[in-house]
Amino acid sequence: MTLDLFNSLWEKVVENLRQEIGEKNFKTWFSEFTPKTYIHNCLKISVPSKFVKDWIDKNYLPILSKIIKNTIPEVKDVEIVVENRPSFQVFQKKSTVIKRLQSLAVKTQKLSIFEVNPQNNLNPRYRFDNFVVGKSNEIAFTACQAVVKNPGSLHNPLFIYGPVGVGKTHLLQATGNEILKHYKNLKVKYLTTEQFTNEFINAIKNQTTEEFRFKFRDIDVLILDDVHFLSGKISTQEELFHTFNFLYNLSKQIIFSSDRPPALIPDIEERLRSRFEGGLIVDINPPDFETRIAILKLKAQEKGVFFDNFVYEIIAEKFVNNIRELEGVLSLVIFESQFIDKLTPDKVKEIIKKFAKETYRRVTPKKLIKTIVSHFEIKEEDILKPARNKNLVQIRQILIYFLREFGQLSYTTIAEILKKDHTTIIYSYEKIIKEINRNQSIKEEIEIIKQKILES
Ligand code: ADP
Ligand code: MG
Repeated sequence: MTLDLFNSLWEKVVENLRQEIGEKNFKTWFSEFTPKTYIHNCLKISVPSKFVKDWIDKNYLPILSKIIKNTIPEVKDVEIVVENRPSFQVFQKKSTVIKRLQSLAVKTQKLSIFEVNPQNNLNPRYRFDNFVVGKSNEIAFTACQAVVKNPGSLHNPLFIYGPVGVGKTHLLQATGNEILKHYKNLKVKYLTTEQFTNEFINAIKNQTTEEFRFKFRDIDVLILDDVHFLSGKISTQEELFHTFNFLYNLSKQIIFSSDRPPALIPDIEERLRSRFEGGLIVDINPPDFETRIAILKLKAQEKGVFFDNFVYEIIAEKFVNNIRELEGVLSLVIFESQFIDKLTPDKVKEIIKKFAKETYRRVTPKKLIKTIVSHFEIKEEDILKPARNKNLVQIRQILIYFLREFGQLSYTTIAEILKKDHTTIIYSYEKIIKEINRNQSIKEEIEIIKQKILES
């Protein structure tokens, strides 16, 4: 089967499915439904989340399989898989690029098996040798190297701050990995501040704070990521303060990261702030053009792909702040390049536009508010005023979730929009995240609103 033939048959599948289950269901569950691989007559179709997969498996798999098998008789098996990034599709063994991508897909799968070591939470993917050093991050990089040479003595604590997607987590994890390489017996532990907070809260709930303390005081290198999340969490701050003092007095190394310098983290106890400030503070900035190019080349190379320079240059010109975004758009270019004979500058620009539209479509707060208000059939002023009844409280929380996830707004900006202080916003956001994870009907509601937002 050629790719063209497959694509035209696939369009029929989509059409038949849409007719069979109705427009509304189709849009809710199948809008991000894409064929991923077709190997040995087994067609794998990707969907963006486990939630959608479970739902389709439960409710639509028989009808879907029937339609597919009727339309594309070669297909013997149909499987739904979760894939939230552009995938490396392999419909045809057409070129060497595809072969390389296939082998990469295998490699990536293998890696995921030992991805995160549960003992120390370190991921071997993050290393110094795949961290591109440029003006924007060289001071932080040098500081981390110094820490590896002299853990606990030179820069303690080391505090690294910078905006999202500039490589803080990568650097922290790489430092942990590198320390372990040189000192096998040291106990290294990496945690996000959220993990630390949750473990602590659970310890209180289960009355195991003694064990908690023991565990955290038995560490040689403590790496705590994103400490700005401590803002407003008084008892966790207090616990961290004591953990810090204990480790520090034994000359154990402590490394923190945050999205801003200690002085600017709101709602944090003075004594903890002064501990954050007691060692070396360094920042990481968004990468300059040359560094962005070097990062793109490295990431492509890791995937076995080599493009002409213009490809990297066009991407690096368009995406300036967030390295995660650079990686995302590069993956899409790699993916799309399999299906075209020659990648031209215009084609790259076209793919970038598509990426911006599909993946990081920024939605204005106004539009989000409008969609949510109409979904719940309430008035705009009801959601913008402090909520009185329980129902409205939850709708406001859902709005906060969307302002954060889709609008990509900071807590402070959301606080301004809703005329609340920003700790309330953080609290509401965390509450709704928890709720989404355990309440099926809210999950569904959120999915449906997402659809509406994407369509509007
Ligand atoms: P942050 O923690 O600052 O939000 P991350 O460390 O998660 O950012 O980085 C986002 C992505 O960009 C990761 O996949 C990371 O590997 C990659 N990355 C960031 N900085 C670099 C760099 N200097 N060289 C190579 N990859 C990088
Ligand atoms: Mg991070």
